[in-house]
Amino acid sequence: TLQLSGLHKSFGTVEVLREIDLTVERGQMVFVLGRSGSGKSTMLRCCNRLEEPSAGSIFLEGQDICARGVDLDKIRRRIGMVFQSFNLYPHLDARRNVTLALRKVLKLGRDEADERATSALDRVGLANRADHYPGQLSGGQQQRVAIARAIALQPVVMLFDEPTSALDPELVGEVIAVMRELKDLHMTMLVVSHEMAFAREAADRVVFMADGRIVEDAPPEQFFTQPSEESTRAFLARYS
Ligand code: ATP
Ligand code: MG
Repeated sequence: TLQLSGLHKSFGTVEVLREIDLTVERGQMVFVLGRSGSGKSTMLRCCNRLEEPSAGSIFLEGQDICARGVDLDKIRRRIGMVFQSFNLYPHLDARRNVTLALRKVLKLGRDEADERATSALDRVGLANRADHYPGQLSGGQQQRVAIARAIALQPVVMLFDEPTSALDPELVGEVIAVMRELKDLHMTMLVVSHEMAFAREAADRVVFMADGRIVEDAPPEQFFTQPSEESTRAFLARYS
């Protein structure tokens, strides 16, 4: 379980997150929607302390990861993150992109790292592309390598920040299929994405952010058919 409680974030005098309360139960997939600048990425980045919250707490399996003295490396090992830009190393093949963190962060030996990388690449349907370099892979395949890299660390929670936004439309489906499979494997996921059809079909809850606040938090059916807030309705009218 990932739990954000009374989370605030300011950059200088600008308040970007205000009083965020959000719980992602174990095995759930929660979708986050909101206009550009509403604070979605900042909220995700707070969850693995790429940003320091200004106030509030974030609990991962009951542990306050913002508490003094927590081991940041340990936290980031347990929270996988996938970005819009895949951030692969261009000079390493798919397998090495996955094994790098396993060797460096988890200090696994070569054989064990290779074994885990093979199984992670298999999970995302790329077992036969292990020795391809990022430049030899499509955008969708690169993003699946990035997902394999994250899941190989066996995180407790996965954060996705617009994982399909940089992809050509015909490649979006293969990344969504992988996320769908992770959900079926009961991975806990917090997903920023405007793939409405996917949210509607697969999310446990959908959250809408406006001006740094969560203004709507509902199961998808309710969210899409009878949102309670005017700002949510306006957003949906424009984007779906
Ligand atoms: P988008 O849909 O465009 O990705 P978002 O909802 O992810 O938007 P954030 O990237 O979280 O929004 O940004 C929220 C607000 O915080 C914006 O007004 C942005 O300009 C501001 N912001 C983000 N990062 C910083 C930073 N490092 N310094 C100052 N302001 C920042
Ligand atoms: Mg963003």
